[in-house]
Amino acid sequence: MILWEDKEGIYKEIERLQKSQLSDFYRTKFNKNTTNKLSLLDLPLLSRAELIETQPDKRLFVTDEEVVFIGYTSGSTSSTPLVSYFSAVDNYFFNPSLDTGIKRPLIIYPPLNKNFSYSFIQQCRQAPQPVTPIFGDYQNLPNSSIIANTTKVDAIYATPTIAENIHKYIDTYYDAKKIRLLALSSETLTKTKRKTLEKCYPKAFIANLYASSEIGQFILFPCKHMLKEGIEEFHFLSSALLGLELINNELIVTYALNKAFPLIRYKTGDFFEIARESCQCGLPGATLKWYGRENVDRIRTHGFEIHIEDIDRFFSTVPVRIGDDYQIHFYNDETHPEQIRIEIEINDKKNNNQQQEILGRLLRDTFVNSFMLSQNMSLTQAIDKHIISTVSVVFVDTFSHKTEKNRKIVNNIK
Ligand SMILES: [Zn+2]
Repeated sequence: MILWEDKEGIYKEIERLQKSQLSDFYRTKFNKNTTNKLSLLDLPLLSRAELIETQPDKRLFVTDEEVVFIGYTSGSTSSTPLVSYFSAVDNYFFNPSLDTGIKRPLIIYPPLNKNFSYSFIQQCRQAPQPVTPIFGDYQNLPNSSIIANTTKVDAIYATPTIAENIHKYIDTYYDAKKIRLLALSSETLTKTKRKTLEKCYPKAFIANLYASSEIGQFILFPCKHMLKEGIEEFHFLSSALLGLELINNELIVTYALNKAFPLIRYKTGDFFEIARESCQCGLPGATLKWYGRENVDRIRTHGFEIHIEDIDRFFSTVPVRIGDDYQIHFYNDETHPEQIRIEIEINDKKNNNQQQEILGRLLRDTFVNSFMLSQNMSLTQAIDKHIISTVSVVFVDTFSHKTEKNRKIVNNIK
């Protein structure tokens, strides 16, 4: 389904890409003549795998001198980082204050502190209400909070995890009530996490933003109306996009502000659904709702869909305080490969072995007795039916799946 399409812009960009003397990446991919009646649907999709396979210089559509900076994905133990080249952009059309009137956001959001600080400063300067980004250090939260106090910041750009972690320092060295906007991205903002953050920052609007390092900027954001009403939806930044589609709920982006490597029908791997056909704020197009990332926010296996929202809710209600210090792994059982084995890793530095044993047993029993795999099947029933073989709790110093982003569920099922 096409949510947005700038036909003239697409035609011009495709023509440029096909005629390019610098790269034949898209010429070989499109493999047919374009006309000015071209629709997005006439063009092939672009996958992340194609980008990883092609060294970035081989898909570069500007000269070397025009490459201003590079971006890359954080990568993890199991994936190769994806590198993207970026050229200068006249206008990003993103408004970092989100119309809330904030002036000085503290930036403790790894992508903006690293590769994208350059372009974010430009976005802050060229916004209709310019703001001054205060680049903190996400690896030194006490120091960042002292800087926040000195500079009197009134907003925070962070991941949900970092926003929660810095709260105690903000309260110690500054005042959490001075924060009027929390702009969050990169991780799923579950309902449980949102509630926690609302308590931590009682005066702040909570804004969920969407970007990716391949695109290089935020393209989904909430309007003032959504922020005021606490509506958990997104608008898309139509002025920055040539096209936007949902195919089987996957967000497909056509973005060409970055002339170094325009994305034509790029499969983001992120899933959304349409929330409303329009919004009373008057911005064009439908609004979107986060639906999650396969194998990151939800695991589909053996006819079940296990969702991060439910897992997160479970851990926030257990009698022992676990917080974010858990990671749940799903494996094939070693002796009965058709069955699933669940292992809950707990990163715990407070308790001794004896306490851990008691804690582990309590946690396991509560999980098995109360967690529902689907509306009609509890974990206990799934064990009785030999769908699940065992559920165990292990205490670890570091999680076995390592990534910069806070990862809660890991699918190891083959
Ligand atoms: Zn709106």
